[in-house]
Amino acid sequence: MDSPELLDLITETKKQLLHLQALGVEGVQLSIRTAEISEVARPGKTTPAVAAPILQPGASIDSLFELGREPEKLAPSHETFEEIHTEIGDCTRCPLHRERTTVVHTEGNRKARLMFVGEAPGADEDIQARPFVGRAGQLLTKIIEAIGLKREDVLIGNVNRCRPPGNRPPTPEEASMCKPFLLREIAIVQPEVIVVLGNTAMKNLLDTREGITKLRGTFQEYKGIKVMPTFHPAYLLRDPSKKRETWEDLKKVRDYLDSTAPRL
Ligand code: URA
Repeated sequence: MDSPELLDLITETKKQLLHLQALGVEGVQLSIRTAEISEVARPGKTTPAVAAPILQPGASIDSLFELGREPEKLAPSHETFEEIHTEIGDCTRCPLHRERTTVVHTEGNRKARLMFVGEAPGADEDIQARPFVGRAGQLLTKIIEAIGLKREDVLIGNVNRCRPPGNRPPTPEEASMCKPFLLREIAIVQPEVIVVLGNTAMKNLLDTREGITKLRGTFQEYKGIKVMPTFHPAYLLRDPSKKRETWEDLKKVRDYLDSTAPRL
């Protein structure tokens, strides 16, 4: 294998491992043994500079790609949104691609202290290729402004980037295909608070069986980041009486951000 091929292989392997790590995988078991590696790293090939220092005769490389235990805090990421969006491409990883018009990426301030995560694009978002631009999105913009911020100050994304038919919630399988990209964006931005809007967003970010009605209004945690579950704006459009509780939840977020110094 020549060097460019090996570099491609390493880059792709790294991407796959990051993807698995974002899914919660804590380590990978490799069955490949030294004999197979010596074949790859045979003298005369151009690759031993990478492989040789790691490979002792007779040694197993089972732990070569060990990702280690899930860190308490989110590790810093040196990826960019552009790299992630290029990797997503014209995605066909899950069945949602069949009926979507566009892939709707996370948008907003990539140095945001505050992030909002919803479920998946609706009809307006699917057409405009932007998250939260329909009626629920307009309400979200008002909610953001009510705590003294502008939409451009925050980051806004969804668990899934393609519109589910009839605006149904994404299935757990569909969510599991798409969510790692969101988690990788969160690792880049490292917001101080994430507001999860509704059950789908909450259950996908937090390891919980509780429903939104139970957990809303109390800070939870995702790898060291504060998470505030609250009602989804689409639900508030259907039941405006729930706006009062949402306002209480958002005031807690505002007070927390006001009480901590912004990161440099
Ligand atoms: N609902 C969501 O959950 N996300 C959007 O982007 C729009 C509506």
